[in-house]
Amino acid sequence: MPREREGRFPFSGHEILVLAEAIRIAEELISDHFKISTSQWKRYRYDIQSLKDLRAEEITDHAFAQIRRYTFPPHDKTLASRHGDYFKICLQDHVIRKALSRDPPLNLLPLATYIVTHELIHVLRFARFLQRFEAPEKERDLEEGRVHAQTLALLKDSKIPGIQPVLTAFRACPFMETFITRGMEGKLSH
Ligand SMILES: [Zn+2]
Repeated sequence: MPREREGRFPFSGHEILVLAEAIRIAEELISDHFKISTSQWKRYRYDIQSLKDLRAEEITDHAFAQIRRYTFPPHDKTLASRHGDYFKICLQDHVIRKALSRDPPLNLLPLATYIVTHELIHVLRFARFLQRFEAPEKERDLEEGRVHAQTLALLKDSKIPGIQPVLTAFRACPFMETFITRGMEGKLSH
């Protein structure tokens, strides 16, 4: 497997289960906080994938995640004619794993919950047109600050085991991903 040769090891079966739990917690926190009904969730078209399901161009070594915007879901032809953007949150297992060995050590469940919560707030804001996907660097930096602040506010009182060390470790670091529109040359990164 070329990804292993490059030192990028996808999450194990157990880690995938932990990630699924983190996604469930993040979606619940966000739907409660932003008062999103099930039918509204369906309108927000996104997918969260980890390394094993990413294509070569969706992988980066420099961020916990990339958000890619597609004009329609590439694997779902039935939705191809529907209007609207489709966001793919591409989690970078190997970068996340590296952060788990911090001092003090961080655990996957709280770190993944933190990352996915942050990414979902981005998606929500793009989908609600509160923020342009392609924006100048200064505007993107401001948006990062807003999303970071909302993520911290959402998680600070949560009972997720091990969340406080994660919030402490990343409090001063709002940047966690790159944004790419399919077909564009290069990265909209920060
Ligand atoms: Zn962000």
